[in-house]
Amino acid sequence: MKIEKENKQKELKNRLKKYEKQEEATSTLQAPSISGYYHVKIRIKTERMTAQECDRLRIITNRDTRIIKDYLRIIYHNEEKILRNDSKVAKTQLDKLTLTTSKKTQHKLRTTVPHDLKKSYPRCSHDEFIECRDKAIWTYESWKAQQKQSKEDLSRPQFKKKTPRIYYKGLEHRGTFRVIPTPDNTLAKLWLDLRDSLDTKRSGRTNHKRLMLPLAYSPYHKKKLILDNVKTLELVYKSKEQQWCAHFTLQYTVPLYQSTQPPAVLGVDLGIKKTAVAVLLTPTGKVIMEELCFIVNKERQAKMWRLEKQIKSIQRELDTRNYNGQPHKQLNVKLYQLRRRLRSVTQQELGYAVNQLVDFILQLKKQYNLFVSVGYPKYIRKSQPRGSGNKSLRRQLHKWCYRLFITKLQHKLTQHGFEPHRVVAVNESWTSQRCSKCNSLNTTRTKQGKFNCHDCNYEINADLNGARNIGKRLIKYALKPEHGYTSIRDTLTNDYHSLKLYKCLQPLSQWLKYSVKNLSSR
Ligand SMILES: [Zn+2]
Repeated sequence: MKIEKENKQKELKNRLKKYEKQEEATSTLQAPSISGYYHVKIRIKTERMTAQECDRLRIITNRDTRIIKDYLRIIYHNEEKILRNDSKVAKTQLDKLTLTTSKKTQHKLRTTVPHDLKKSYPRCSHDEFIECRDKAIWTYESWKAQQKQSKEDLSRPQFKKKTPRIYYKGLEHRGTFRVIPTPDNTLAKLWLDLRDSLDTKRSGRTNHKRLMLPLAYSPYHKKKLILDNVKTLELVYKSKEQQWCAHFTLQYTVPLYQSTQPPAVLGVDLGIKKTAVAVLLTPTGKVIMEELCFIVNKERQAKMWRLEKQIKSIQRELDTRNYNGQPHKQLNVKLYQLRRRLRSVTQQELGYAVNQLVDFILQLKKQYNLFVSVGYPKYIRKSQPRGSGNKSLRRQLHKWCYRLFITKLQHKLTQHGFEPHRVVAVNESWTSQRCSKCNSLNTTRTKQGKFNCHDCNYEINADLNGARNIGKRLIKYALKPEHGYTSIRDTLTNDYHSLKLYKCLQPLSQWLKYSVKNLSSR
């Protein structure tokens, strides 16, 4: 009896413990979060390093492409032996063909193998062979997958470029790199400590030396580079600038943006003269609230115009010289430089506009359950083809990069917890011609950027009208799913987004119907 009682008590205790554990698990459940990766690039101060150290940096940072090629060749010739049933490469089988072992592996010592790579590359370490093997397997498998999709004979992958090594941080990779802050050091305030002898093995050396690299460290990096989140490192040489760079990959996790506030849609119209126009559509009772945001940087735009003019004139001169058979090498160089400058200026303008818009959105985020709808002009480049289209319009269209703008915006907003389906690229066609109030197409657009509707006598700024239409289109997509899909299709990524949006946007659509009927006097 006593034993039974004790047993029962024990059971009870165990149960209680289990229960407690479960409760703990549920109570420590974290709020939903969103995670991703971003990159930080830091220049390496090679001018502070000795020539020998620079040499070593050059040697150790690249994988030996010859070894990868060899691996690929071996895989091609022994496909039957190596491939598993799921058409993936079995690593152990490949090792049995290529690598001898000095230590006893699971079964026995391997002293001879059919393709002895260690014999043909005596200076290479075991770790590098493993890295090259993984790279070769990865390339082979992706090539196979591509071939399956395309149903054509694709050419075999080649290795012409140098492939940089990727360093992983973490115990399983034996800590191949380390970042050491030294605030009092006069040479550099941040040092990258790299395990050097991973690749090149000198005879008789057992102790691995470490390579210290001084990094050009700025306050910006101080803000961005939080050492706990560093995942991988890649050392890249940029031949144009003749610089070495350390590319860190960092992971971030931010709480998911969830809001109990009223829903709102921000319609964003991307344009050529005005970088972006944003309009907020909200249902707050019977009153329409609109908040606007025009993003224009006149100085930079003027700079862009000036550069374009210069490029045009040089192109004209080039044509005439070409026609007359005169030398034009210097002009070519200048044209290249100008185009590069124009590209960098456009990039700056793009980044500026995205940042402004993100700031604007983050302010609105406090008040609304916000969705962003960006007009994406698909096929706009094909709308003015060579031969039959408008020449000047085509040139204007080609210099602006809509896709990059939207992806940048999406990327930035996910870093603030926005789910991808909150930023949707909708089809932009006809949004600038349609009246945002009565959906009529009987409209005109005057030269001063004014928009006139002949059906309801509505007068509004033309860009604003477009942005409103784009915002409305997202709501329309959410409420009237086409072709049986109960979700929104993103025109940029061709993804279908979930239904959560649908319920949330219902009050907005009702408000829209209401406002169209009752507020026609506005
Ligand atoms: Zn109208």
